[in-house]
Order: sequence, then C-alpha cells, then structure tokens
Amino acid sequence: MRFLVTGGAGFLGTALANRLARSGHEVQVLDDLSRGNQEGLDTAVQCTQGDVDNIPLLWSLLRGVDCVYHLAARVSVAESILHPREYSRVNVGGTVSLMEAMRDTGVRRVVLASSGAVYGRQPQQPVHEDDHPQPDSPYAVSKWAAEQYVHTIGQLWGIETVALRIFNAYGPGQQLPASHAPVVPRFLRQAISGGSVVLFGGGQQTRDFVYVTDVVEALVSAATAGHINRQIINIGRGVEISIAALVDEIETVTGHKLHRIHNPEKSGGVPRLVADISRAKILLGFRPLVGLAEGLERMLREDGRFS
Ligand code: NAD
Repeated sequence: MRFLVTGGAGFLGTALANRLARSGHEVQVLDDLSRGNQEGLDTAVQCTQGDVDNIPLLWSLLRGVDCVYHLAARVSVAESILHPREYSRVNVGGTVSLMEAMRDTGVRRVVLASSGAVYGRQPQQPVHEDDHPQPDSPYAVSKWAAEQYVHTIGQLWGIETVALRIFNAYGPGQQLPASHAPVVPRFLRQAISGGSVVLFGGGQQTRDFVYVTDVVEALVSAATAGHINRQIINIGRGVEISIAALVDEIETVTGHKLHRIHNPEKSGGVPRLVADISRAKILLGFRPLVGLAEGLERMLREDGRFS
C-alpha cells in the first residue's frame, strides 16, 4: 500500500513510518520539522519538509496514496494554554486542509491520531468512547474538533475515517523538549542524572502508559480493518498507574533513587485517566503486549540518551 504520514518525523510518526516501510509499503512523510527530525527515518521513507496547511503541497504528496495517517500536530498541553491560536491553526486548520486535499485527490481513508486528553475530568474510570468529552485545555479542544471535522467531512465526501484516542504513549525517540517534556522520558533522564522530580498532591494522579510499539500496531490495523468507519477508538494499555508508582518503577529499572519533591498542590492535570480498550480489542484485534517495566527497560536499552 501507499501511505502518507503527516508528522511522520515525530516520535510516533517515525516508529510508524519505519514499521510500514519495513513491511514493504511505500511511505512518504510530511513534517515541518518544528519538533521532529528526519534522522530516525529509514532511507526507504521519503520525507518532505512542509506545513500540513499547505494545500498545493498536499495535492502533490497525496497522489496515488491509499491511506493517510494524520499525526502532525502541536502536542503540548501547557504550550497550548499559552498559544491557543497556534494550536487551533495547526491541529484544527491543518486537519481541515488535509481533508480538503484528500477530497481533491480522491484519497479514500484517513486515520487520525487523537488523544485521551479529549476526555478531561470524568466521573468514572476507565473512560469509554461514549463518555462525553470534557476537554480542559486548547490542545484537548483542538483534538476533539479535529475528530469532529474528520468524521463530518469524511461522511460528506465519502472518505473513510477513524480516530484513535491515544493515551500516554512512551518509548525510545520520544521528544524531550527543554520545557514541558512528557513525564516518562523526563523522569528517566532525572533518574540517570541523579536529579529530582516534583510530585503534585503526593503523585496520586493516575495515567494509562502505553508502549510505542503497541500504539504502532493499533495504527497499522486501523489502515485496513473493516467496520471502523467513523469510529473513535481508545488506545491505551487499560492499566491505571499512579505517578508515584511510575517513579517507583523507574527507580527499580534504572537502579537509581530519585529525590522526590512533594508539592501539596493538586495541579498536574486530571486526577485519573485510564482507557477502556474493549472497543480496540474488538474492532482492531488490539492486544497491548508491553508492560511498564519492560517498556522502561527497552527505552533504557534502545535510546542512547539514557545510557
Ligand atoms: P511529536 O511532536 O513527536 O510529533 C508531531 C510531529 O508533527 C512533529 O514531528 C512535528 O514537527 C510535526 N508538526 C507539527 N506541526 C506541524 C505542521 N504545521 N505541519 C507539519 N508537521 C507538523 O508528537 P507525537 O508524540 O509523535 O504525537 C503524534 C500525534 O499523536 C499527535 O497528533 C499527538 O497529538 C498524538 N498523540 C500523541 C500521544 C503521545 O503520548 N505521544 C498521545 C495522544 C495523542
């Protein structure tokens, strides 16, 4: 098959593009390289630097493509609070541009990388796809809006669409920006360098950590699975882990003690978030294989930044 992966030079996009190319598919990447870089991509993957909002560029890249993976996005919750317009421009406007260009070029299927962040604070866990979203950041709003646009435009123009709500993905190659870095690589780096971590409210907030290869397998299945048109599907491991327990596990895996600074404030996001993954199991045959300890060990082994 022929694929276009937007945001394909990023953390998840690189893993996906390489996985597809190694299975013999033809893969092109479109990325503005604002955060990702091309170094991790196999030579078989063609990477074009450009903005997902650039319709003429999209026309040329979409020719002959069977399925688009739409991963290009601004991805920081904290940054989105400071720059909501930019998050709307890229995550919403870029998605609408892509759908228009897909209509113009006759591409039939798109898989959107949405986010568990869409749920926000929910009265019950695990969260199910039918729960009403309560987005609490411009990032979460932008992902929810992107889902709605993709499904609505897809229905109007006969494009098959599916949105995967990915929870806390982690793994080798994950971006580690200077500020607001994701929790797993940030804590790993701190453990290796003998640093400290700040735990809000005792570190009792919970998240659903899912290893990159499991997310990639879900994305791969979504390109060809039947009966998923217009669906929203949670992709997590379905296991609720507190931030304090994550720190324990990182200490065990690295053999380094982390200095814990306790901040009694209850900030640090929603108190609980874990995915109900039964729909993914049924519709995608999804079976997450990598537990937290194994995932952290693989990250240490495979990512040179932690050795
Ligand atoms: P990432 O930042 O590593 O990848 C995003 C890529 O998009 C980057 O390479 C960046 O350069 C590119 N990009 C940004 N703006 C662009 C633009 N205007 N035009 C073209 N390219 C642009 O992030 P990631 O963790 O790999 O996330 C990939 C997708 O998965 C995103 O859509 C994100 O919202 C979604 N997601 C990720 C997670 C996670 O835990 N990693 C969880 C939920 C959802």
